[in-house]
Amino acid sequence: MAVTSFKTTCCIAGGGPAGMMLGFLLARAGIAVTVLEKHTDFLRDFRGDTIHPSTLELMHELGLLDEFLKVKHDKVDHLSGQIGNEVVTIADFSHLPTQCKFVALMPQWDFLNFLAAQGKRYPTFDLRMQHEAIGLIEGGVTGLRVKTPDGEIEIGADLVVGCDGRRSDVRVSAGLAVDNIGTPIDVLWFRVSRRKDDTAETFGHIEAGRLMVMLNRDDYWQCAYVIPKGGIDRVREKGLPAFRDAVVAMSPFLRDRVDELKSWDDIKLLTVAIDRLRQWHKPGLLCIGDAAHAMSPVGGVGINLAIQDAVAAANILAGPLKAGRVTNADLAAVQRRRMLPMKVIQWIQVQIQERVLSAVLASTKTPPVPWPVKMLNRFPVLRRLPARLVGMGIRPEHVRTLEQAR
Ligand SMILES: Cc1cc2nc3c(=O)[nH]c(=O)nc-3n(C[C@H](O)[C@H](O)[C@H](O)COP(=O)(O)OP(=O)(O)OC[C@H]3O[C@@H](n4cnc5c(N)ncnc54)[C@H](O)[C@@H]3O)c2cc1C
Repeated sequence: MAVTSFKTTCCIAGGGPAGMMLGFLLARAGIAVTVLEKHTDFLRDFRGDTIHPSTLELMHELGLLDEFLKVKHDKVDHLSGQIGNEVVTIADFSHLPTQCKFVALMPQWDFLNFLAAQGKRYPTFDLRMQHEAIGLIEGGVTGLRVKTPDGEIEIGADLVVGCDGRRSDVRVSAGLAVDNIGTPIDVLWFRVSRRKDDTAETFGHIEAGRLMVMLNRDDYWQCAYVIPKGGIDRVREKGLPAFRDAVVAMSPFLRDRVDELKSWDDIKLLTVAIDRLRQWHKPGLLCIGDAAHAMSPVGGVGINLAIQDAVAAANILAGPLKAGRVTNADLAAVQRRRMLPMKVIQWIQVQIQERVLSAVLASTKTPPVPWPVKMLNRFPVLRRLPARLVGMGIRPEHVRTLEQAR
């Protein structure tokens, strides 16, 4: 039987980018915060490894940028693609009005470990690994039921924040209505070793019926091979040799190492979803990040949005949490602030999925370069716009100073 083990001011379910950033910022503001992460550590094969210029800007505002950049990372200052034999550049980060004019590619567990280490500098920061939120304490939401290695406990809280990703248990338990926008794609995720004489580019490659993105991770290529939604059985039926051939057809220079894909265990299926809650909150509860709005991998911007949500939530809620009076209006203010940036980015993702990705996957010959991409390739100044959307998003948030936060 569950027992109330303790009470905190804010209890966050999920130690991903949204939950860890929110936990850190609230602790920095002097608020008692408990972050629950169901896994033992942050080490998972797929976490999405992009740290955007806007997140690096937040690190600068927090006075942590120099320390953060000591963590091993690769810099991407532009995005390129190859459609058939034509190479196109579509985004140029080098003109952004930010301290760092690049996307840092860094294993997300390094980023989350960094936030955890920074959080632990504050006495009110309490991170609990292997703690899984399994239900809400109702009556207005007044806390979470939690599964731990030592049995089930209850944690009381003035505010519960669901940061538990796109399969959020919190939002299900809360019965919040979800609008499912749908998506025509899934992703196969695998790595192949990289040689020093390979191209240094992080790039996307489009051929007849196929699309693959390759991220340069120094000693390996992290590959994202896009397939039609639910198409994994067809890919498997054709067999592993056929899949390897398809990869080589996209990137012939992988021919001598594609055998590193020895079984289907080396290839992970990442199911893609786009959805959003109609209302992100109810009394005592707020959802942010993918728990409020699952993002597609298109553009690689979900982490950015999750972190921006966390900053907005911390800015708006730190005062009411300190005063012990978080109202529904405060929670609604977080949703109001973040709804438009999220909707615009989801709209763009849907357009790209439907107009470009679906068409490519259905094509039997190499598609022509779309005219907007031709324009970007021809007029370099235009590449600043996609760079801004990917690198900074819409309505970038800024961390309040410590005095404002307190
Ligand atoms: C195939 C694919 C590729 C993507 N690639 C990128 C990319 O390159 N760049 C990018 O910016 N975005 C990418 N995204 C989107 C990105 O992954 C998400 O938008 C982002 O991770 C959301 O962050 P979050 O903190 O809200 O949730 P998550 O990152 O999902 O974190 C949720 C955390 O909560 C924990 N958790 C879950 N349930 C519970 C529970 N009940 N109790 C306690 N803990 C729990 C999980 O273990 C996890 O640590 C991709 C998405 C997909 C599907």
